[in-house]
Amino acid sequence: MSFAHFITAVALAAAALPALAQEVVVYSARNEQLIKPLFDAYTRETGTPIRFITDKEGPLMARLKAEGKNTPADMLLTVDAGNLWQAAEEGLLRPVRSTLLETAIPAHLRDPDNEWFGLSVRARTLVYNPNRVKPGELTTYEDLAQPKWKNRLCLRTSKKVYNQSLVAMMIHAYGEDKTEDITRGWVANLATAPFPDDTKAMEAVAAGQCDVTLVNTYYFGRLMEKNPNLPLAIFWPNQNVSGATAGVHVNISGAGVTRHAHNPAGAQKLIEWLASAKAQNMFADVNMEYPVNPRVAPDKQVAAWGTFKQNLVNVKEAGRLQVKAVRLMDRAGYR
Ligand code: FE
Repeated sequence: MSFAHFITAVALAAAALPALAQEVVVYSARNEQLIKPLFDAYTRETGTPIRFITDKEGPLMARLKAEGKNTPADMLLTVDAGNLWQAAEEGLLRPVRSTLLETAIPAHLRDPDNEWFGLSVRARTLVYNPNRVKPGELTTYEDLAQPKWKNRLCLRTSKKVYNQSLVAMMIHAYGEDKTEDITRGWVANLATAPFPDDTKAMEAVAAGQCDVTLVNTYYFGRLMEKNPNLPLAIFWPNQNVSGATAGVHVNISGAGVTRHAHNPAGAQKLIEWLASAKAQNMFADVNMEYPVNPRVAPDKQVAAWGTFKQNLVNVKEAGRLQVKAVRLMDRAGYR
């Protein structure tokens, strides 16, 4: 065998190896207990080993950046479109063309440039005390700025990305001046200083310290599971609104293939699998979130909260306008 033939034979042998056997390395800001069962199922099904590390999104993105071409990571998995947008903006991800992903994931829940894809939906909605709020009183996020809600509103701190994303989406819809007026209205209606987390804000509503707050539904689910008798109920705002503010504010957890992935095909297959009907319930239900794939029904407990219209503006706006939102909230005195 000549040397050239030998090289060809080696190349053919390498090409014949099952591509699926190559390990996929994931950097995940989603907790180990949420992702490990899924990764185990994927490995059982495909034979593909998955290695992952979990950390907060900040350190993971800093690590990806510092490692550059030498990163072992093929895929970044994180929560919030703002973080995914940031990762793409910093050049940490690469575009993926996938008919499977385009079919499984509604257009507003993935990057128009195909660098990240939503895998579950979190709805940020109103939770109120039914002993203190009459039916019909609640309508929209914007309405909570009206004087009738004076001393009746509780909010989580503006330091967390969740309300930053909501305000960013309002800037997209209304521009900064009107959004600042609304935000000032919220602040003027606060019954007490903002809370460090959604759960504390709901507990204040249940205790009668205020009447309504704004939370991600999975926190409501977790709290009610622990304490089903709390006087708390979900309201879906902006359902009878048209235009850019129509529908409940949603965000995603999602993933992208890293710019310097060694196994981009493997990472893409894993993301496609996570978006598929068989994995979607496993991915979403464990955290009481909504499947991103509209063909997949949510968990029974989640479905019991009722159906709602989502806001259909692309969630990337939450990332693009985040800095403006943070400055605006600061100007409006929202701490
Ligand atoms: Fe959360």
